[in-house]
Amino acid sequence: MFWTRELIARNAPVRRRAAPPPGEPPHLDRGVAAYLGLAIGDALGATVEFMTPNEIRQRHGVHDQITGGGWLRLKAGRVTDDTTMSLALGDAILATGGVEATAAARAFDDWMRAKPVDIGNTVRRNLVAFRQTGNPQAPASEHDAGNGAAMRVLPVALACYGQPEKTCIFANRAQAHVTHHNVLSDAACETLIFMVQDLLAGRDPIDVERRRAEKLASQHPVFAYDKKRCENPSGYVVDTLKAVLQSFFATESFEDCLVDVVNRGGDADTTGAIAGMLAGARYGLEGIPRRWLAALEDTTRQACERQAKNLLLQAGMQPQASPTPA
Ligand code: MG
Ligand code: MG
Repeated sequence: MFWTRELIARNAPVRRRAAPPPGEPPHLDRGVAAYLGLAIGDALGATVEFMTPNEIRQRHGVHDQITGGGWLRLKAGRVTDDTTMSLALGDAILATGGVEATAAARAFDDWMRAKPVDIGNTVRRNLVAFRQTGNPQAPASEHDAGNGAAMRVLPVALACYGQPEKTCIFANRAQAHVTHHNVLSDAACETLIFMVQDLLAGRDPIDVERRRAEKLASQHPVFAYDKKRCENPSGYVVDTLKAVLQSFFATESFEDCLVDVVNRGGDADTTGAIAGMLAGARYGLEGIPRRWLAALEDTTRQACERQAKNLLLQAGMQPQASPTPA
């Protein structure tokens, strides 16, 4: 996995680090940027979801504009389930004051009743089961290793910022197991939550890769990634994470990261959303290209900004030990 750092050293332009407005804690700026990054990556990637890299090249050259379209025929700036499920979960966390399984399941069920533009098969199946049984925990299944729980972890990462790792893990499983009760999904979710929290705290990305991505691969070798570029990532959480981690650690700006990951095609709205979340947490609001922020639907942008701030406020805005920024 060390190759990514060599690439960064050789190819990366030096970019200015995002500076938060005076008086605002840096992690608040990065938390808002993480939420906007999630939505921007979703809106950008949705245009090329399920296309191959070759098909994307033929139709768009390099896909780097939020134009809508795609198989969902979206209006430019609209987001999909990745963002709307996250917002539904975040609202439930704010309403109950914590991450609670039944509240999360009800929020997801209400979200499904509102006929979202897209919905994963595992999500649908296990929400239908919740309606029938009232049990918010799906049965453990080795087949439910899709990326549907990993794509919506951001509100958990924000609500649990500053909490012990065990608390974050417990909170995540409450929401994740509503639809995805699976060991690989859990490992991916928890890695993403800790990465977001590390980046909000200003931890060096090289350190984050070692502490989190390499640990994930050592505990579950199926997640190991090397020089071979992961293209056309499927909705299998392992494929999704490998593509996202490659892009995230091999690039040095928000824009480069998102352009790299969505042009790999496959489940591009979800790789875009997860990569956007990480890149937002890393580069802050100043790192987000204005054209993408302007293209995002107003109601979505406002909901992301509001929810990120409120979740971090709920987390207590505890003073963090702040490692030296990269
Ligand atoms: Mg989606
Ligand atoms: Mg998707």
